[in-house]
Amino acid sequence: MKEDKSSANGEEPPSGHRLQLLKEFHSAGRGYWHDVSDADWNDWRWQLKHRITTAEQLQKFLPTLTPEEFAGAKLANTKLALAITPYFFNLIDPADENCPVRLQVIPKLAETQTAPWEMSDPCGEDSHSPVSGLVHRYPDRVLFLVTDRCAAYCRYCTRSRLVSNASGYDFHPEFDRQIEYIAQHPEIRDVLLSGGDPLLLSDDKLENLLSRLRAIPHVEFLRIGSRIPTFLPQRITPELCAMLKKFHPLFVSIHSNHPRELTTEVRDAVGRLADAGIPLGNQSVLLKHVNDDPTVMKALVQKLLMCRVKPYYLYQCDLISGSAHLRASVSKGLEIMEQLRGHTTGYAVPQYVIDAPGGGGKVPINPEYVVCRNAGRVLIRNYEGKVFEYPEAPDGTPTGKPPKEIEEPQLV
Ligand code: SF4
Repeated sequence: MKEDKSSANGEEPPSGHRLQLLKEFHSAGRGYWHDVSDADWNDWRWQLKHRITTAEQLQKFLPTLTPEEFAGAKLANTKLALAITPYFFNLIDPADENCPVRLQVIPKLAETQTAPWEMSDPCGEDSHSPVSGLVHRYPDRVLFLVTDRCAAYCRYCTRSRLVSNASGYDFHPEFDRQIEYIAQHPEIRDVLLSGGDPLLLSDDKLENLLSRLRAIPHVEFLRIGSRIPTFLPQRITPELCAMLKKFHPLFVSIHSNHPRELTTEVRDAVGRLADAGIPLGNQSVLLKHVNDDPTVMKALVQKLLMCRVKPYYLYQCDLISGSAHLRASVSKGLEIMEQLRGHTTGYAVPQYVIDAPGGGGKVPINPEYVVCRNAGRVLIRNYEGKVFEYPEAPDGTPTGKPPKEIEEPQLV
């Protein structure tokens, strides 16, 4: 599963070769669990039951665990629980302390350090919550929190204040009240189920919830946000897909950050969702040493398209308490976007956003392509850095002059 960074002469492979290596699909394999039967390994409930949840288990399965990781794992249950499915654990490269999969799920002591500008609820969700478990931040849509449990826990989780209940938030969704609120607000046309992970619910429970939401006439559109396709692809059973397809239009947003997460198992799992007619998007978080590299990000987005998943959002990491060691800079995010736009398929380019601290909602962040606008023209820059003039009168009507490319000296 390792990304081969070396060539025959021991040097870094050229970037084109590295891109191709990153885009290869592999199985996660069985690793330590080679004796487990196929039936058990492919059973999502077996995977959940056998998750790695303690520092001692981590030490047993990962002899290269560092003291910083061991100490972080020991303290994890006071902040955000530790849990890793055996399937996902197999994607970790034990020889690499900075393995991009390892960094996402193995706690570090650095999580206990909180900078003054970090927050437990960086997106201000609790202040936009009219009913427990429902966030009504935007005019026509709501976030419906279904559970506080996930198949595994991401160390940068925006909702770590409530997810896993490690810090005693004591989250209790009240489906009756949440559904009643939606029914009483005809402006809500879009409901996003999230959590925790909604796909941890049994098929029956999820079907019951989706049926109740579908019965509300003004709810046009349902969405599920889930990391299960990448943490636990075994959960995406044919039965689950057959149930979900009864509730169209229903979209699913998956969550992956590094191309190594897109295994043959994940490709098959999201393929089953796509075959059920479910449009798929991906949300990534920009993370230091995980995906803050244009080649890694290009491999991720191209591989997602091969899985029939549209890269949807790239999030700047929220100012969540204890996440500074994983946060990449906005300038790095902009640099990556520059390397994607125009350099690869438009469908592969996600929207880079910052969730405005304190509850301002998602704000799109783009490299500057408009060089200047004035009374008769708009100067724009393309992905190669060439500048073009788009003639336009101040009232927006064309000026009649033909558009032209501008030589750099004229700009100066
Ligand atoms: S799966 Fe989502 S909700 Fe769960 S820990 Fe990861 S980011 Fe948080």
